[in-house]
Amino acid sequence: MLHRNKTPITYAAELTLENVQHFYGARQILHDISFTLKAGEVVCLLGPSGCGKSTLLRLIAGLECTDGGSVRINGKVMCDANTCVPTQKRNIGMVFQDYALFPHFTVLQNVAYGLRSVLGNVEAENEAMRALERVGLAHAAQKSPIQLSGGERQRVALARSVVTRPSILLMDEPFSGLDGRLKEAIRRETLQVLREANVTTLIVTHDPEEAMRIADRLILMDEGRIVAHGQAETLYRAPPNVFTASFLSETVVQNVTVAHGQISTMFGVFMVDGCDDGTKLSMAVHPHDVQLSAAQRIGCQHGKINQCSFAGDHYHYDIRLAASDDMLMCEGRTREAIGQVVWLYCNAENVMLFDATTQERLPLHVRTI
Ligand code: ADP
Ligand code: MG
Repeated sequence: MLHRNKTPITYAAELTLENVQHFYGARQILHDISFTLKAGEVVCLLGPSGCGKSTLLRLIAGLECTDGGSVRINGKVMCDANTCVPTQKRNIGMVFQDYALFPHFTVLQNVAYGLRSVLGNVEAENEAMRALERVGLAHAAQKSPIQLSGGERQRVALARSVVTRPSILLMDEPFSGLDGRLKEAIRRETLQVLREANVTTLIVTHDPEEAMRIADRLILMDEGRIVAHGQAETLYRAPPNVFTASFLSETVVQNVTVAHGQISTMFGVFMVDGCDDGTKLSMAVHPHDVQLSAAQRIGCQHGKINQCSFAGDHYHYDIRLAASDDMLMCEGRTREAIGQVVWLYCNAENVMLFDATTQERLPLHVRTI
């Protein structure tokens, strides 16, 4: 691809953040953010709206300076107490949520924009054309971005961000403007382009399913702090805290107290090894691990099926609990009749236990009685 003399040849870089802090006025927005992205890695930064994801991207890009800690690229300080390297010297590409394309430029001019000063007009447009070919949009080169669909605009923004061969690419909610099936296809294409471009990428999203599909590794934030960090599957199956469990999947949480080495939960009574009586725990179960029984089960709660909706390969149930009148949502493989009375239970291996105060995971062994 880019191998001629004047062409910017760069390689995926390692990105390291250490104890990054940020304030807006007196309000601390980011607390002690530390992580490393290895060269070429694609990682998702995930968290609810307002938790500080975009602010963090702006700090990495150099659009703002940190108020503490450091940002380094391949070990070189980009920002710390003494230094703040300007954006254009960091070799970072960005894809914004609204794509930020220039409406008065053609698609080709948009993509060539960042290359002009390095290559001159003709070479820049040649490279831009190659980038458009890679995202399947060569035919739209002379159009205005406003003539394109949302998905096409996203691909133009992607082409524009990788054409300058950044060593790090930051994408802020790049798929949030797209819907359904299109989103899925564009996500796959984007990942392909990122792999070919060999660029270290941090993708921001607030959608856990999207994050788990895109990236091997997730960084989960809440209120300006990193609350979990690791492989998507590990975080999903063994969440380190209640927030992670509930954010990555619907989760039923119940507070319980250990008595006689047991906990009485809405899904049955379980033995808990290695825990003193009186210990307060938060029990969490994923709705797809909740099982229904038409026959009475001792120690379990029961309720009535209030709604049963078809969801492709499974069904969603809303169950009104007899004891509390609360509604519980869970999932299963069979259609259940409205009004049917069911007992709820789950297997011991699907019960996750956390300290009720800290909400951190406890490595306790749970057994059926
Ligand atoms: P996210 O991208 O995760 O939704 P942001 O990083 O945009 O979150 O915002 C984090 C917090 O910082 C929010 O409470 C937001 O209101 C606040 N914030 C963002 N930008 C500014 C700003 N320029 N001035 C003051 N507060 C801001
Ligand atoms: Mg944001």
